[in-house]
Amino acid sequence: MKIFDEIESEVQSYARSFPRVFNRAKGEYLYDEEGNEYLDFLAGAGTLNYGHNNPVFKEKLLEYINNDGITHGLDLHTLAKGEFLEALNEKIFKPRGLDYVVQFTGPTGTNAVEAALKLARNITGRENIISFTNGFHGVSLGALAATGNSHHRGAAGVSLSGVSRMPYDGYLGEDIDTTAYLEKVLTDSSSGIDLPAAVIVETVQGEGGINAASVSWLKNLQEICIRHKILLIVDDIQAGCGRTGAYFSFEEAGLTPDIVTMSKSLGGYGLPFAVVLIKPELDQWKPGEHNGTFRGNNFAFVTAKAAIDTYWSDDTFAKEVLKKGEYISKRLQSIVDRYGNGNFSTRGRGMFQGINCVNGELAAEITRKAFKKNLVIETSGADDQVVKFLCPLVISQENLTKGIDIVEAAIAEVCSVSSPIPEERDFFETQSMAS
Ligand SMILES: *Cc1c(COP(=O)(O)O)cnc(C)c1O
Repeated sequence: MKIFDEIESEVQSYARSFPRVFNRAKGEYLYDEEGNEYLDFLAGAGTLNYGHNNPVFKEKLLEYINNDGITHGLDLHTLAKGEFLEALNEKIFKPRGLDYVVQFTGPTGTNAVEAALKLARNITGRENIISFTNGFHGVSLGALAATGNSHHRGAAGVSLSGVSRMPYDGYLGEDIDTTAYLEKVLTDSSSGIDLPAAVIVETVQGEGGINAASVSWLKNLQEICIRHKILLIVDDIQAGCGRTGAYFSFEEAGLTPDIVTMSKSLGGYGLPFAVVLIKPELDQWKPGEHNGTFRGNNFAFVTAKAAIDTYWSDDTFAKEVLKKGEYISKRLQSIVDRYGNGNFSTRGRGMFQGINCVNGELAAEITRKAFKKNLVIETSGADDQVVKFLCPLVISQENLTKGIDIVEAAIAEVCSVSSPIPEERDFFETQSMAS
């Protein structure tokens, strides 16, 4: 369609990688105008963990709309909001022993991050925030200051202040625990790093290249925060809602963050929704201090509740994600071993994984070839050097295998090695994983 060239802004990005007009989507599939079918391993950059147009959520949403349920509610108490909060409290917080109050912000991740940073600064009376190399927290000014990527930072047009950057886990090589450096600068009065209000961290860096922090690094980080009375903010916007194999990405490390930001797959259906979870004693907001016209997107409350009820009433789904995650690990490792020439490596955990191709051009070539084979898959990282596997968590085992096969074939072509010899299928692939 010509209209996109005529009047849509140059700011487009994903549309450049996948230049088709899409008109339908279902589960792990996207369809274009010409009826072509694509497997979706981008999944709304982590927003579609439960697939496109999840049939259970769709039915609830249609019923709600048919009954003239509230659509827009500011922060009024609505039945839909109340039922979402009950589900969150009963099925997510209580079984995990977590005690949080919920702040509804404008329905984007970056707005939740803005609120979290504001709150931390107001509570502590300190301005500085520690964020990490390759961290991504959104592109509004406060969140952008905490974001590492120079392409995004460069668009700010003003100085991005109030944040000190520290090396993330693995930044200085596998054997260096970078939390030791953080501890050192916090205890040295001449380090030049002001005592921060908070540390903001992703347990797995999504946009920054699928860098997964180790459990021990995360535990050390929390200990340092406690010791120095610094608030710990976990940005679980992309890693949360099951992506790593637990509802929250910090469960494996046993963290209890002071503040958690959530968005992306929280609404479940791809509807805009964001919240900040706050330890009750830290909920020092005054009425209306932070607001947002669309903080009461009731459609998202309906589908978010449906997502919790459907997938998080017990641990069946989490186990299934972990199992698929193991399969992905195994496949990606074998691809790296076979075609990586000693340069490629795997990264990530759960169903949040990638292949580091070191070179951005090479990674782009791989994803372009994959798209020709009807797979939508993107790259991330400082130089877009990581091929990022972010398929819906509910994907069938058959399609998971198929998608990875496509990437393998694309890599085989790009790395000009002969096509892969089909390996014997292992037990992961023969077991039914339908959800
Ligand atoms: C996507 C993302 C954000 C920003 O969310 P938007 O809805 O794009 O504003 C913030 N933090 C992380 C970790 C993200 O992945």
